[in-house]
Amino acid sequence: MAYVITDACTKDFVCVAECATAAIAPQVSDPASATVSQLYINPDECIDCGNCATICAQNAIFVEDELPADKAEFAAKNRAYFQ
Ligand code: SF4
Repeated sequence: MAYVITDACTKDFVCVAECATAAIAPQVSDPASATVSQLYINPDECIDCGNCATICAQNAIFVEDELPADKAEFAAKNRAYFQ
């Protein structure tokens, strides 16, 4: 189980600084940060601490099994970003 970022993300990069495992990408210094529509969590690096979801002002981040039904596709979208 991992946390998942949805399209409510506004790319404020606050969660990136909160993640102890650097599971969230792209970093603000990555040129890709200017072109992606949202940030993503690498499910293989996420340790389910929940810090990112707690700090997110947009309520854009959910643990995978609590994703709203209309956001279910974002689990695969987050994983796909890292493949
Ligand atoms: S739940 Fe914790 S480890 Fe996983 S992406 Fe969020 S801050 Fe990083």
